[in-house]
Amino acid sequence: MTGLDRSLHKPLRDPEPLECLSSYLAAWRHHRHTTIPQFSASIIRFSTSVAVALMEDPDFPEHPDWVDVVSKVTYIPKDILSELGKPLGPWHLAPACRIHACVACLAEHGKASRQSRSKLWTYATNTVCAFHELPLIEVPAVGWQWSDLPASERKRHAKLLLRPEQVRDSVAAAWSSVDEQLMRALAFSQLSAWAGGTGPSKLAEIIGYPDGYMDREVWEDVLCCLASSWTAKYEDPLVVLGLPQDAWNGCVNVCFGPVRKVCSGGSPDIRVFCRSTSAPLRRSCVLIAAQAIRGAYMENFLPVRDWGRSGWSRVLAHMPAAASDWLENMRSRWPAGRSVSTCPPSTS
Ligand SMILES: [Zn+2]
Repeated sequence: MTGLDRSLHKPLRDPEPLECLSSYLAAWRHHRHTTIPQFSASIIRFSTSVAVALMEDPDFPEHPDWVDVVSKVTYIPKDILSELGKPLGPWHLAPACRIHACVACLAEHGKASRQSRSKLWTYATNTVCAFHELPLIEVPAVGWQWSDLPASERKRHAKLLLRPEQVRDSVAAAWSSVDEQLMRALAFSQLSAWAGGTGPSKLAEIIGYPDGYMDREVWEDVLCCLASSWTAKYEDPLVVLGLPQDAWNGCVNVCFGPVRKVCSGGSPDIRVFCRSTSAPLRRSCVLIAAQAIRGAYMENFLPVRDWGRSGWSRVLAHMPAAASDWLENMRSRWPAGRSVSTCPPSTS
């Protein structure tokens, strides 16, 4: 048996809870001293189309044989691979947009070799860490994925790579101005969106979801409507209309800004939302969609005095005709009883 053959049987660490497939395979490649091109070549020996599927989506490959082929190449058990490649729900970010992480989680993992990328960070409606209540920030790599980057990139991000606790402290300091009530609203919105996307579940029961507001279609249409600009030019997405300008001593900017401009004429779909690298944009959309869909329940979290003049009611009052016609048309397809208010409020 050669040295390489023996390393096949050396135990690789178990996946972390909710670890992404690409993160675990990066650890496997390091373990086997294998580069990405060598790994791809091994996959191609069994199936070119599986290699293409893995290239197109390294976390959630869409190919009926990917588990079989990757298991043959890596000797990782199929049940582990299936679990790694299982999305948290329907709205995971597009592959190129999976660039966020909680730096406090990374600091707890310790050095890069012990880090792993969590599926919680690649889900489009999640923009705040549920454990640390800190915003997810752009991180070019996590764990062994750092070794796939050029040395110049590693050097440029040396602090993040070597001293994540320092980055955590500066993120926490910037985020400390965010009002506690708003933090609760954000956490509840995230949970609501997750439950809304995944359908009836224990999670929905826990957060007290009433029947009739759980439909994935309702969430998709409202998120998509808010994330779109409804023009063919780069302009502010609709959600910007709903953001308060002067509340909470400026923490609105920390929490929701800067929202990147988007270009989205025509008839949009949920991919508009899942292809946004802008966490502030997605955070704003989730909060205001929760206000639209959960209505009175959200008033427990968002004080009406501040959000009565902004939020969903203001979006409705200023919505361009193309957007309201589209939403009305989509609403007519929802099952009976699943509706948000699409009529402009009488006072705004
Ligand atoms: Zn965290």
